[in-house]
Amino acid sequence: MLIFVPKESVEGETRVALVPPSVKKLIGMGAELAVESGAGEAAGYPDSDYSDAGAEIREREDGLKSADLVLRVRPADPREVALQKRGSMASGLMDPFGSEDLMKAHADAGISALCSELIPRSTIAQKMDVLSSQANLAGYMAVVIATERLDSILPMMMTPAGTISPAKVFIIGVGVAGLQAIATARRLGARVEAFDTRPVVEEQVKSLGAKFVKIDIGDTGQTEQGYAKELTPEQVKMQQAGMAKVCASSDIVITTAKVFGRKAPRLLSAEMLKGMRPGSIVVDLAAESGGNVEGTVCDQEIVTDAGVRIIGWGALECRVPRDASQMYSSNMVNLIEHFWDKESSSLRLNFDDEIITGCLLTHEGKIVHERFTS
Ligand code: NAD
Repeated sequence: MLIFVPKESVEGETRVALVPPSVKKLIGMGAELAVESGAGEAAGYPDSDYSDAGAEIREREDGLKSADLVLRVRPADPREVALQKRGSMASGLMDPFGSEDLMKAHADAGISALCSELIPRSTIAQKMDVLSSQANLAGYMAVVIATERLDSILPMMMTPAGTISPAKVFIIGVGVAGLQAIATARRLGARVEAFDTRPVVEEQVKSLGAKFVKIDIGDTGQTEQGYAKELTPEQVKMQQAGMAKVCASSDIVITTAKVFGRKAPRLLSAEMLKGMRPGSIVVDLAAESGGNVEGTVCDQEIVTDAGVRIIGWGALECRVPRDASQMYSSNMVNLIEHFWDKESSSLRLNFDDEIITGCLLTHEGKIVHERFTS
């Protein structure tokens, strides 16, 4: 089975789908590996590292045409998908709710598309869970970037020249990114408060030494997959009212609130931003899916008239491409290894396995995932 890793083509993408140690591992399992020249360059892996690990360096078109499995990080250009052989496979982030064209391109080309966003959030699939491995780094980076932009420091400092009070950080949305943001801000000495509509996270927030902000917005709960349910407009208003005071007294607000498969909820209004002090920082980690903050501009940093800086950079994990690629690559290897058939030295799609049925978007010329067929 030939696995090909093309260079990422989305602008600003610095990650690579497989790092050289993973290449070595897959070759050890019996796979053949080919990589496009420069694929790992932005993540700190020159071609020579891939050659040393046993991969062949191939031209992009040749690699795509001959591969049995193409591994990418970001969605492919739909026009390029048709180059792949019918019956071959592709894996990576595919933006299934935003990019119907790409899904159709995979179906039309007869490719089995394993969509990373749809890997079930189950214990067994945790090691293949790209959303978690990358969100973890994004949560860390949100705090690091905000700290660098802030006009004050995070920890309390008692010095002969006086005492500096710790900064206050408010995290909205306590999933994978939010938990890492709490942990990072705590490590840097900030006082941290957090809120999520899923009441189950209260204990996790407390265990990290942060305060859980209680806001009564009625029935919320979570889906079977552990995702938040969408709030009604009235509930959003109640949440905003409950958060306004906390935001006003925070130096940094990091929003990570997402609802799977839908636009991110708008949680910070212009009015709430006006209540924050000049010089304070808001990092909107949901910028790419619509933004939690009124005024966020995706992939930009803006300062409001009142002096609040809103950071809307997408995919913050791309700023630590070496670690992000290592994590992503491990996720890919774990997926391949889980379904590896030793006899044929190839990845076998087991349709009785909920990981495959959970993430297989297209197969044999059709869209097969139940979320997109019904
Ligand atoms: P996500 O990126 O979809 O959302 C981030 C957070 O935003 C979530 O915690 C969500 O509850 C919260 N949110 C949504 N609307 C909100 C609102 N109006 N106000 C405040 N917060 C709001 O979530 P995620 O980080 O991908 O994690 C989703 C769930 O999956 C979590 O329960 C997580 O613990 C679980 N998970 C399980 C596994 C596993 O068991 N293998 C792995 C990863 C994640």
